[in-house]
Amino acid sequence: MNILIYTETREGSFKKQGFELISYAKALSGMTGGEVISLAIGEIFDEELKKAADYGASRIIALEADQLPDNRNLSKLLIQWIKQANAQVILFADNNTGKAIAPFVAAGLKAGIATGITGLPEKTDPFIVTRKIYSGKALAKIQVKSHYKILLLAANTFGIKNDPVVPVIERHNIEAEYFESPNKIISTEKQTGKILLGEAEIVVSAGRGMKSPDNWGSIEELAQILGAATACSRPVSDEGWRPHGEHVGQTGKVINPNIYFAFGISGAIQHVAGISGSKVIVAVNKDHEAPIFNVADYGIVGDVNQVLPKMIEAARKIKTE
Ligand SMILES: Cc1cc2nc3c(=O)[nH]c(=O)nc-3n(C[C@H](O)[C@H](O)[C@H](O)COP(=O)(O)OP(=O)(O)OC[C@H]3O[C@@H](n4cnc5c(N)ncnc54)[C@H](O)[C@@H]3O)c2cc1C
Repeated sequence: MNILIYTETREGSFKKQGFELISYAKALSGMTGGEVISLAIGEIFDEELKKAADYGASRIIALEADQLPDNRNLSKLLIQWIKQANAQVILFADNNTGKAIAPFVAAGLKAGIATGITGLPEKTDPFIVTRKIYSGKALAKIQVKSHYKILLLAANTFGIKNDPVVPVIERHNIEAEYFESPNKIISTEKQTGKILLGEAEIVVSAGRGMKSPDNWGSIEELAQILGAATACSRPVSDEGWRPHGEHVGQTGKVINPNIYFAFGISGAIQHVAGISGSKVIVAVNKDHEAPIFNVADYGIVGDVNQVLPKMIEAARKIKTE
């Protein structure tokens, strides 16, 4: 059963979750047999391509392009390569891109799809996987019965595991037809130089308890010292205090970092839906009854204005020791 992974790229490199997907695929191939094939679309450096083999991709395909086809065309292109590679299991990251493209691919292949999966299948015949449901508050076991099986792996649930193989690396051009689209992208704005929220191992997040966008300097400072991404609650982005890309929760990004710091966030159910996969939650809130303390592993009852400077000082000390 060949396994094909759609590995996303950014500025010529693989996004980190691609390596987790390849590690997952390599472990899965131990159960199913077959080849582990990674497929990247867009610009990608040679050195970077080789890295896919460190985690177990034995066939590494790069489809070169200055820009990505639109999602509909991208899914058609993937279907063409899934068939060419004789792949039966297709893996995506359980992020906005995966959720946008995988359903088109599933429809095109008449495939069963399982989003938010948290680990390897319990068995592969029948093919039974566990997935998150109700915004991560419960888990469901499902059987994927179709010939093609599409899986979206929740970030940071399997881990990145070194398992080097000798790869075959291929580069191909994309036919012009895949760039024909009823829509035309006029301009794009890219985040540069920042740690991507969906990939961050540490996230420093804040809510309305910060009182004003002018107080975000200390949040950014702590994030910078810890090598963390910044995030926020929804009202904060609705107010325009922070960009919408930082909003986590039911209607924002769902993240699974190793550590999530919540400063002045009440811990409403819709917010927790986006962070409950965090391995450790550290909350700072002046109200000892704030619901965030129900999900926090470590809690400090206190004023952010007093606690944050102390945490910044402590983090700086640890980093310079
Ligand atoms: C359909 C729907 C979808 C939603 N989706 C989302 C979502 O995806 N993400 C999301 O975040 N929300 C979402 N919400 C909104 C959610 O219900 C909450 O209103 C929101 O999360 C609250 O944000 P907050 O904790 O920043 O603000 P608040 O609820 O105002 O809480 C501020 C907290 O800061 C504390 N505080 C105040 N001052 C200080 C201080 N000086 N020091 C320390 N602590 C202090 C307070 O005690 C309080 O707990 C959604 C709501 C609905 C109805």
